[in-house]
Amino acid sequence: MLNYTKKETYERSALRINPAKTCQPVGAMYAALGVHECMPHSHGSQGCCSFHRMMLTRHFKDPAMASTSSFTEGASVFGGGANLKAATKNIFDIYNPRIIAVHTTCLSETIGDDLNSFIQELEVPEGKVVVHCNTPSYYGSHINGFSNMVAGFIRYLSKSSGKKNGKVVLMPGFVNPGDMREMKRIASDMGVAYTMLPDTSGVMDSPMTGKFELFPKGGTTVDEIITLGDSDLTLAFGKAASEAPAELLTKKCNVPNKLLPLPIGIGRTDEYIMALQSYTKGDVPYILEEERGQLVDILIDIHPYTYNKKVAIFGDPDTVLSIAEYVLEMGMIPKYILTGTPGDSFEKAAAELFTKFGVEGCIAKAAGDLFELHQWIKQEGVDLLIGGTHGKHIARAEDIPFVRAGFPIIDRYIHSYLPLVGYKGAMRLAELITNALLDRQDRDAAEEDFEMVM
Ligand code: SF4
Repeated sequence: MLNYTKKETYERSALRINPAKTCQPVGAMYAALGVHECMPHSHGSQGCCSFHRMMLTRHFKDPAMASTSSFTEGASVFGGGANLKAATKNIFDIYNPRIIAVHTTCLSETIGDDLNSFIQELEVPEGKVVVHCNTPSYYGSHINGFSNMVAGFIRYLSKSSGKKNGKVVLMPGFVNPGDMREMKRIASDMGVAYTMLPDTSGVMDSPMTGKFELFPKGGTTVDEIITLGDSDLTLAFGKAASEAPAELLTKKCNVPNKLLPLPIGIGRTDEYIMALQSYTKGDVPYILEEERGQLVDILIDIHPYTYNKKVAIFGDPDTVLSIAEYVLEMGMIPKYILTGTPGDSFEKAAAELFTKFGVEGCIAKAAGDLFELHQWIKQEGVDLLIGGTHGKHIARAEDIPFVRAGFPIIDRYIHSYLPLVGYKGAMRLAELITNALLDRQDRDAAEEDFEMVM
């Protein structure tokens, strides 16, 4: 982490320092882990695959299983077709997955490997499948990689039989398994039959059974992905992560889609529930009404501590925008919101949010980095920082309370099991925020007492 004084500012057009994102294949690997009996396969060098597995394993504290084409100098010069052929044969022979989901890396993209033709030439055992997506990491972020892999599954597998199956497709976006469980719980409470794609619950939060399972029980099955084309509707959560695969399913199989924000906070959870309600035309069950009422009660109770507090939020675009709306609902001011993922829609959506809540002087930036966020905070401080683990350096340097939310969180535990989405998730986030602010208040009071005694 570079340090600088208040007066120094650095205008940069290309260099990134501590980017608020990671590389595309991390997202593609995570999406592939959300498919049952799927082996994510990294078409590139071993180092890339190790890095991506490490990122996921450190966040989820569960092993992220994946294979690699193990490029060496030969593959870099002559192409990786032979490597992929040998790799897929070995993977089916040794690990016996139902499906291999291949994603590319910077190296295989740079040398121009044509995965479409490579896969057509593979000898795939009967009943097994190989799919792929392109994830050149010098463009976009892990969110684009996640989106591309979900689209890859649909492009290869989903079909329309012409007969509807009475289900809703839930595309959860790049969220934790705990969030996916909560989204599914809400859909079940609303009486909606659904298929979630991808679904990492039961995979990246699988229970300890005393026996290692290469392919845990969870994940969307291949058969479910095939029948996505017969669904009534897709609810796609988060523009950055889910819009493209939802649009592809609409185009390929004529399944209408509704784009929703990640359901974090009151308004955005309401939107999810009302979308389900307009599909079922039924009543919202009392359990959800009760949770909402409890959340409102909580927000009133904590209002004296949250009102007018300035917050800096960084991380993935869909997550950051939803947390920003939630802190506005809490009476806080999202002074700085920043994502490392590029794209015009983030800043546009942030501007609309600031206008909706009538706040001025807030800054939003896509394709930003933590160095820049630190500079802003140096210029005008905030009361709270919200984001992944890498923000801790800013929090320490500026002595700001820090709430860990988003990806990656590598220095804390349990977070991936518990939701941020839904009314229950909002209660959890409210608790984290309030306790962080109160801890600071307690510490300031203790310091004051100490000074008086001295
Ligand atoms: S070389 Fe590219 S794909 Fe591999 S780890 Fe680095 S950024 Fe990711």
